[in-house]
Amino acid sequence: MRIGLGYDVHALVEGRPLILGGVTVPHEKGLLGHSDADVLTHTIMDALLGALALGTIGDFFPDTDPKYKDADSMVLLDEVWRVVQDKGYAIGNIDAVIVAQRPKLAPHMDVIRQSLADRLGIDVGRVSVKATTSERLGFEGREEGMSCQAIVLLNARCTAA
Ligand code: MG
Repeated sequence: MRIGLGYDVHALVEGRPLILGGVTVPHEKGLLGHSDADVLTHTIMDALLGALALGTIGDFFPDTDPKYKDADSMVLLDEVWRVVQDKGYAIGNIDAVIVAQRPKLAPHMDVIRQSLADRLGIDVGRVSVKATTSERLGFEGREEGMSCQAIVLLNARCTAA
């Protein structure tokens, strides 16, 4: 059994789509980044890699590589998930929290959870995603950015090796 922690931050700017867990959420601003800046998916990838002490998504997908410009983070998640499975692990559960002042994310959560579960091929009951505001404090509260934290539990598929 292995446990992994992820944390990520992206700036919120005008003229970008807001993509969380592969789902485009209607909002007047979106997250800024080299890829599609899906802060939730990035955080979950870092938690998956962290659980197996494999480094960070920056090691796997350098933001200096033009290949990853505007990359679909769900495709990057496919790659990370393949690495985790190749190491012989399955996901026990994921728990994530997005810190954002606006927009209200609760109405989108079921779709976001299902999007991640479908992509990973696991039951949606293993994928928890919550949102909270920061009570208008800090960069999230000023709507300058969003942060996300996630924890992932991995179970070995077999006891051999
Ligand atoms: Mg990121």
